[in-house]
Amino acid sequence: VIEMRNVATRFGTHAVHTDVNLGIRKAEIFALIGGSGSGKSTLLREMVLLQRPSAGTVRVLGMDLRNIGDGDALALCRRWGVMFQHGGLFGALTVAENIGLPLREHTQLPPALIAEIAATKLAMVGLAPEVAAQYPAELSGGMLKRAALARALALDPELLFLDEPTAGLDPVSAAGVDALVLQLRGLFGLTIVMVTHDLDLLWQVADRVAVLAQGTVQAIGSMAELSQLDNPLIRPFFDGPRS
Ligand code: ATP
Ligand code: MG
Repeated sequence: VIEMRNVATRFGTHAVHTDVNLGIRKAEIFALIGGSGSGKSTLLREMVLLQRPSAGTVRVLGMDLRNIGDGDALALCRRWGVMFQHGGLFGALTVAENIGLPLREHTQLPPALIAEIAATKLAMVGLAPEVAAQYPAELSGGMLKRAALARALALDPELLFLDEPTAGLDPVSAAGVDALVLQLRGLFGLTIVMVTHDLDLLWQVADRVAVLAQGTVQAIGSMAELSQLDNPLIRPFFDGPRS
């Protein structure tokens, strides 16, 4: 459902990606790992039209993103949900309003129905009904991640993009997010693409993992396969503790 071919990304003279190739299959949980600054978030952003590569092809759900028109882009945005590295909830809106935002943007549903869907998504991510009326600043880190996930799920997406869903969480909250991602596996054929340093999350939920280093994908495989490799660019990810 996602294909990147010969993707290169430069910011000024700084080459982040020189030649990235990968394919992501429908209904799998695909993870991107790599050092800080290796360009994981950038790659994710290129999959959801928030950033254009300097060269190469990105195809998502059968569409070539390079010359996509506004109408097609809008239609695609309806079919994916994104949870950003830094949450990205709007502080001036309640949790329910945040979750309802994609629905207000992309559908003509009446407010009462939108509130109902928001309540359903809130329950789906394990948050209590009263959280709906709270503001992001009142929530703990784990609750914020769950609320951001609820918003990403608002439109029942076919693709879910998660940028470091457990970063900054205590081990118990992180384990809760692991369980949540696991619950989403295979739901309506949902494909999940996530960026993470979290070995527990990777071992528990990732079907395949791509290791990004030195501007390219060094290897793609299951955690069991990758953990056998001797490549010095890959080994460090398997020796460290949970981040
Ligand atoms: P982290 O693990 O810290 O989240 P990452 O792998 O997600 O890192 P990116 O955020 O994709 O890395 O950034 C990769 C590189 O590209 C970094 O050196 C960053 O400074 C640079 N970069 C990213 N976005 C921009 C931008 N809009 N303008 C200029 N440089 C950028
Ligand atoms: Mg990042």
